[in-house]
Amino acid sequence: MDADTILATKDLTIEFKGFVAVNGVDLHVKRGTIHALIGPNGAGKTTCFNLLTKFLTPTKGAIVYNGRDITAMKPADVARLGLVRSFQISAVFPHLTVLENVRIALQRKRGSSFDFWRSERLLKALDGEAMALVEAVGLADFADIPAVELSYGRKRALEIATTLALDPEMMLLDEPMAGMGHEDVDRTAELIRRVAADRTILMVEHNLSVVASLSDRITVLARGRILAEGDYATVSKDPRVLESYIGV
Ligand code: ADP
Repeated sequence: MDADTILATKDLTIEFKGFVAVNGVDLHVKRGTIHALIGPNGAGKTTCFNLLTKFLTPTKGAIVYNGRDITAMKPADVARLGLVRSFQISAVFPHLTVLENVRIALQRKRGSSFDFWRSERLLKALDGEAMALVEAVGLADFADIPAVELSYGRKRALEIATTLALDPEMMLLDEPMAGMGHEDVDRTAELIRRVAADRTILMVEHNLSVVASLSDRITVLARGRILAEGDYATVSKDPRVLESYIGV
């Protein structure tokens, strides 16, 4: 694995009772890029993400992150190495405010055990840092609003803030635009672009105009295998890719 590659898989494969959902995938994600994983429904994208974050164990193959074989590691240990999945593991407490949610995430990063009431004073001390993150994701005006009252798009921005609090080197974003209206999509795309300035992003995303505008590189999966790879202009012209999208 060359130094430019932050995440690589070799022959990544998982079989569910005879059905091969991810089949011999060799993925290479370059450090500092936004890399999109796309493909028709059932292609194996979510399963791939679950394998990368160790929520699933591969039947065969290996996953290497920053030169380290993480294939046998537990999800929490992978997260500790800096590979963090947003939207799934970043817990948002609906009745706590935006700022409180980010403060708690910062506290978790420091490894203190979570006890909201007893550690209230300690949490206050993290206010400055928490507010900077809240501002960074465009939620300054919503800092004191309970998470439950945020719009869908802003909730996702809060999830990005709680993930950023863990200071990940690489973020996996699982359909960041799912269920969003135009305005939220634009704001979230801008946020992802900003977040990507000093880290690597791998995202699964269905919205192809978002994929086109954000991604440096795209891997197209179909039926568990890599069908095509390259920039948007290349993969969008690939007849096999067009066929795989039309064929479902
Ligand atoms: P995508 O995210 O690209 O839509 P998935 O990764 O969710 O695709 O699913 C890929 C294929 O694997 C699908 O056919 C799905 O039904 C199958 N699959 C996923 N998880 C399981 C499982 N736990 N048991 C059996 N089949 C599964």
